[in-house]
Amino acid sequence: MFSGFKAVFPILGVVSFCIVLSCSSRKAINDPVLEPGVHRSLAIYRKAVLSDIQYMLDLDLPAQKTKAVTAHETLTFTLNSLRLPLQLDFREDPSKISTMTLNGRHIEVDYQKEHLLLAPEFLKNGANVLQIDFTAGNGALNRNPDYLYTLFVPDRARTVFPCFDQPDLKAVYTLTLHVPQSWKAIANAELRDSVIGQNYKTYHFKPSNLLSTYHFAFAAGDFKLFTGSLGDKNAEFLYRETDKTKITPSLPAVFKIHASALKYYEKWTGIPYPFQKFGFVAIPEFQFGGMEHPGAIQYKASSLFLDEGATKDQLNSRNTLIAHETAHMWFGDLVTMDWFSDVWMKEVFANFMADKSDEEAGGNDAYALKFLIDHFPAAYAVDRSTGANPIRQPLDNLQDAGSLYGNIIYHKAPVMMQQLENLMGKERFQQGVREYLRKFANGNASWPDLIQILDRYTPANLQAWNKVWVNESGRPVISYTMTTQDAKIHRLLLSQQTEYGQKRIWPQSFEVSLFYPGSVKVLRVNLKAEKMLLKEAEGLPEPQLVLFNSAGDGYGEWPVDPRLPEQLSSLEKPLHRATAYISLYEQMLSGKAISPARLLAVFGKSLEKEQEELNVKLLSTYISTLYWQLSTAAHRKTLSVTLENQIWTALLKQKSSNNKKHLFKLYQDIFMNADARRRLYQVWESQQPPAGIALSEDDYTSLAFALALRDDADPSILAVQDARITNPDRKRRFEFIIPAVSGDKAKRDHFFNSLKLLPNRAKESNVLSALYYLHHPLRQASSIRYLQQSLDLLKEIQATGDIFFPQSWLQATFGSYQSKQAADVVRTFLTAHPDYNPKLKAKILQNADNLFRAEKLVH
Ligand SMILES: [Zn+2]
Repeated sequence: MFSGFKAVFPILGVVSFCIVLSCSSRKAINDPVLEPGVHRSLAIYRKAVLSDIQYMLDLDLPAQKTKAVTAHETLTFTLNSLRLPLQLDFREDPSKISTMTLNGRHIEVDYQKEHLLLAPEFLKNGANVLQIDFTAGNGALNRNPDYLYTLFVPDRARTVFPCFDQPDLKAVYTLTLHVPQSWKAIANAELRDSVIGQNYKTYHFKPSNLLSTYHFAFAAGDFKLFTGSLGDKNAEFLYRETDKTKITPSLPAVFKIHASALKYYEKWTGIPYPFQKFGFVAIPEFQFGGMEHPGAIQYKASSLFLDEGATKDQLNSRNTLIAHETAHMWFGDLVTMDWFSDVWMKEVFANFMADKSDEEAGGNDAYALKFLIDHFPAAYAVDRSTGANPIRQPLDNLQDAGSLYGNIIYHKAPVMMQQLENLMGKERFQQGVREYLRKFANGNASWPDLIQILDRYTPANLQAWNKVWVNESGRPVISYTMTTQDAKIHRLLLSQQTEYGQKRIWPQSFEVSLFYPGSVKVLRVNLKAEKMLLKEAEGLPEPQLVLFNSAGDGYGEWPVDPRLPEQLSSLEKPLHRATAYISLYEQMLSGKAISPARLLAVFGKSLEKEQEELNVKLLSTYISTLYWQLSTAAHRKTLSVTLENQIWTALLKQKSSNNKKHLFKLYQDIFMNADARRRLYQVWESQQPPAGIALSEDDYTSLAFALALRDDADPSILAVQDARITNPDRKRRFEFIIPAVSGDKAKRDHFFNSLKLLPNRAKESNVLSALYYLHHPLRQASSIRYLQQSLDLLKEIQATGDIFFPQSWLQATFGSYQSKQAADVVRTFLTAHPDYNPKLKAKILQNADNLFRAEKLVH
């Protein structure tokens, strides 16, 4: 499987020498490469020679974030080969190591290319003990004025303490934390005791379960602690939220969602919750939605704490997020990928299982609609681009693992999994997955390990299926021809083509619905070849409308009946309308069935009738893109009054307060004219929302930003809004974003330039919000100058930022440009860097895809 073996920086100058170790498989192991990061060969070598790893870590966490974290580590491990120096990962200044003692003997620090080298003469076969006194690196401690939290995925544990940083060397962690007296702390393991000292408190945690380095975690600081029940067990929850209107409804809800997710997974997997304790912590402005550290799950605080005005969409997202992280306890934590090339496996299972637990809670049709809207548009956004990546990608060095993450992992993979389950049947799929979990519990496994097991549960050819869905990128373009005779269908021919690259066939199942007055004929199709005659349709009366992919489970660019735009509102099922909206949008982006201007008009009209909240949200997103990125500035001007009126009228007509709120947000997003501005200004100033809508402080904050972005804004808006915000975390966030929204170009320039310094990018979620305003279409005349420099920064952003940051940085930067000038910046950059990191290049192509399309579509 691993082929890209790089013969650089060999230890002791030996490259091609092979050893055969006494490990169970007795396979030949190449000597490890010594290079920055964690090379695949190093991981394979260490997996073969190391076992029984235990870390005892003692950390002194001072209150001031500028003070050093002093630490002591006792690392014990069993070794079975003394031929080579052992590489211990530490991506920090080696002067931070003060003393090292290996098996009782003091040793000098030998530091090369992010590794501490332990010489064979100090090591022994069997058990070894290494003692290190050091100053912990701050790289992944996320230190804030009064709290900190670790985030080590995928390979950041090595930025804090010396370790064997790879997922398949699971170890036991025994953690001691010395913290300021007022602080609270949470870690993977149960607390053994806490001891109060003079000015500090010491938390002793018990030995953890077996964990990969990226699962080892703790958080400490000025948190509130709530202990709640999850049915048969208690769980601790740390948070910093201060708003009672959010805390009161959210605490019971959050525990209830966790409890029902746990119950579902225990039943589905047949394995009781596999870790010693359950706990979670809400982190303000967390870089991700959540992170699945066993016993100490981290969540973005704003995703957990919702008030009574929360929309169904926000509630759904919270359910899904909690179900996702909880599913990881089995998928990812109990059984872990052996290398990050299979990181998608834990993500697909977590998403897929989260959806399944929702299905049980919500029923079939609601499930199908949510699955469609959650996954398909996001997967298409990458898969339709020339930078599309396959689900499974090779990875030479763990330091590049961040580039594997993206929509394909999170959104195409669940679609693939659903197709796999359809292919195998639900029961056999479940049996296979259960066997896989039992077999690899507390260990590691790869995707081929799983496919091998599943293959035994089905007669289908999983290897061929796997090749096109998992190992290759892209989606099929489906088309059809229908001929009729005497008002009956004579022939209905379906074909699939490849959008880019080599010809491929995607085997998949989907539905085609034929609509007649008062009835619908549904046909289930198993498309396995390039072309297929739909025999079942022959002889049926000619329908008044054909809807392809009507169950919403088929993947690809779907054809649309030319009559569809006129008949949208006659589709009674929300699922049918959703699949129609998506297909029309995809057709528009391909420059086929409908123009952006026409589609904007069609969707605007659909708003008047659409009642299903998920569809209202989908339409709102599409309308926003059609308006800002796929209309010329001149066209926008002429149609803005009509669109504003259309949205406001729809808002008044809607009965559901959630729908009203979505439409209010859309109105706030697109408004241009004086009447709309007056209306919104009044809502903001008086803090009186329109009837039937509840607006929170966050809503008023984004409204203040939207008003401030417009030319004629009241200059005091942001100062007034700032004064209204009392929560210190939210206030810091607001003040960080202000210069990016400023009407003063010099301030925006200064803000953009400040992002070139790493400390100013530390709060990634705040940076991304600021970039949205900085590159807003109303500001693009001046912000286009930032594009080139934003690309120049990308490599550094990948090296220093968290895993989602390079992709989000590109998305927030290029997400709303449309001009040839902007597209030229991307093309020039790619031409000037022919040897650019291919995974990063792919990310650029993915995020500039809409820009390239806009350049062609908008005239
Ligand atoms: Zn996940």
